[in-house]
Amino acid sequence: MNEPRHESTHKKFYQMSLEERRRYLAAKAGLSPEETAILSGMPGLSPEQADHMVENVVGAFDLPLGIAQNFLVNGREVLVPMAIEEPSVIAGASFMARLARAGGGFLAHTGAPEMIGQMQILDLPDAAVGRMKILEHRQELIEAATKCDYTLEKLGGGARDLMVRILNHPLTGDFLVMHLIYDVRDAMGANAVNTAMEHLAPLVEKITGGRVLLRILSNLADHRLARARCTIPLAELASDPYNPGHVRDDILAAWAFAAADPYRAATHNTGIMNGIDAVVLATGNDWRAVEAGAHAYAARSGRYTSLSAWGKDENGNLTGVLEMPMPVGIVGGATRVQPAARAALKLMGVTRAHELAEIIVSVGLAQNLAALRALATEGIQRGHMSLHARQVAAAAGAVGDQVEKLANQLVRENNVRIERAEEILQEWKKA
Ligand code: NAD
Repeated sequence: MNEPRHESTHKKFYQMSLEERRRYLAAKAGLSPEETAILSGMPGLSPEQADHMVENVVGAFDLPLGIAQNFLVNGREVLVPMAIEEPSVIAGASFMARLARAGGGFLAHTGAPEMIGQMQILDLPDAAVGRMKILEHRQELIEAATKCDYTLEKLGGGARDLMVRILNHPLTGDFLVMHLIYDVRDAMGANAVNTAMEHLAPLVEKITGGRVLLRILSNLADHRLARARCTIPLAELASDPYNPGHVRDDILAAWAFAAADPYRAATHNTGIMNGIDAVVLATGNDWRAVEAGAHAYAARSGRYTSLSAWGKDENGNLTGVLEMPMPVGIVGGATRVQPAARAALKLMGVTRAHELAEIIVSVGLAQNLAALRALATEGIQRGHMSLHARQVAAAAGAVGDQVEKLANQLVRENNVRIERAEEILQEWKKA
């Protein structure tokens, strides 16, 4: 097992002190002292930087940043930064990445980084004729859209295709929706696409004689899918007192529940998004866009279902696949402004947006397995509660060594509640 260990102490990553972890990361990813400090939250996003990002700024808001271990993505070792407040997510991802590693790790790929821009065209005497007119000018519109972002054009991006649908609503009658497929290279692309759509609007009005209303990107980025798969060797699923075949079959039954039921699928997909959002956030990307795209994609058949699929191969090993829209960038938006996002990309050794998408979707698959495995064996609370107890202990006012001691007592008492934590702290004070 290729678990990371500190070269001098031989401790595993989770056993290292904060300072040891930082030194380990700096050495492993070649981070400068400044980058290491930035990942450590010092100095972090300054209020002045934040003031340039959004409105009415008073400061910045912190989240824990942890590094998931054991990830092998397309044969490459990856340290995965995860920004998340929920305990057990980073541990779960790291553990499942270790199981997947025994089966060769994660194989992931993406298609072209193509986003969809939408344009709504109203007030047409004949929508079918309006549609034809736009299609007759297809090439001209594609060229005009590409020309409006010189940088993207130079990098090989730009508009790729155009399609037009006729929609109807009682409020508006027939109207047209034009989709522009736009290759945004290494950007997330919302601004690039929105700019192109606004640029095309007068041209489309002239062509159709209609009135353009909305010109905006669609977050159902189903031209920009990322896919990951993994194989977990059966033996890796052994979990005392459960035998591996039993664990695998119950994982499959748990997945079938999500595949068949939207109520279960919503929570199943939350498990996936626990992993995905944490990396999306750590790299300064738009997690709302990724969330919206994921859930819209999960409902693409008309019924909301699981984003992942689990099965078994001819040797009885567990196999998993995850496919979903992944509109993430490494340039533009907050990815350049947020110092920690730059350091996070460096830590991962990512130089192209598709590499980031491939890592993120692998983390989503790992996280999904962590939840399924826990649910199909001892239940989610046992592992979660011991980590949650530390948060409760800290919230009750425990400091230093008290946190671990108090958390242990709360778990032993099977009473992980803030009131009880405060009570114990009071008792300790009196003693
Ligand atoms: P952006 O406009 O800041 O950066 C993209 C631009 O960077 C490109 O247009 C291009 O000119 C330039 N560029 C330089 N090098 C590039 C490269 N290698 N690859 C691609 N482009 C390169 O950002 P964006 O990615 O267009 O938009 C992302 C932002 O838009 C995010 O902050 C997001 O939150 C926000 N946003 C999202 C929505 C939504 O619905 N999801 C809507 C509006 C805005």
